[in-house]
Amino acid sequence: MSEGSELLELQEADYKLLRLRKQLEELPERAQLAEIEAKRVEVQKKSEQVIRMRAESEQETDRLQNEGSELRAKMAEVQQLIAQSSDYREVAALSKEIEGLAKRAEKADFEYLKTGERCEKICDVQAQAEQALSALSKRHDELLTQLEEQKKLLLDQARGIKAKRDELVKNISRELLERYDRAVAAKNGVGAAYLEGDHCSGCRVQLTDGQLAKLRKESEIATCPYCHRLLVMLDIGKR
Ligand SMILES: [Zn+2]
Repeated sequence: MSEGSELLELQEADYKLLRLRKQLEELPERAQLAEIEAKRVEVQKKSEQVIRMRAESEQETDRLQNEGSELRAKMAEVQQLIAQSSDYREVAALSKEIEGLAKRAEKADFEYLKTGERCEKICDVQAQAEQALSALSKRHDELLTQLEEQKKLLLDQARGIKAKRDELVKNISRELLERYDRAVAAKNGVGAAYLEGDHCSGCRVQLTDGQLAKLRKESEIATCPYCHRLLVMLDIGKR
């Protein structure tokens, strides 16, 4: 194989490596994982809020329950006093007190029920949040496994191409490699071109017959007068 053909194979290997690197960076699982993580943070925040609400609600339920029991104990005491009293006025006053206590106890009971219902609703929301978190965590793990598999596949491919590249480099002179590396750096990864008929494959510009004749006379590996890539004077046609 001529040095020009070797150079073009090297260019192809480098281009494949470049594409693999891009594929590796842009694996869709990365964006999906970021999305899952954002959702997880959001649900986690909501879940913490619900846990706080539940604690407050439970505290309120306890308080109302205690209040109800205290009021009923108080009512029993007053009832006792009424039973022991023979004073009509005192009995009337105590009865009025019981009436007030009963109203307060009823209110506490009602609020206790309402808070209990609220507690149940909060528990449902908390269960939903936990379920969502566990689903997200499962999806996260699946995506992570998928990402690792895709990465491994691409890296294996890259390793194969890299081994081939190492072999190709052995057959190319140091001077040409240096020219190639400079062109690669200047041209975003594609440093060597070839002829597609009378076009440079790098910049697609048509070369005149005079230019082609002059470049052919110089060397198999010339420089494109337009894009300044190394131009292998082999007509390979469209690839
Ligand atoms: Zn060109």
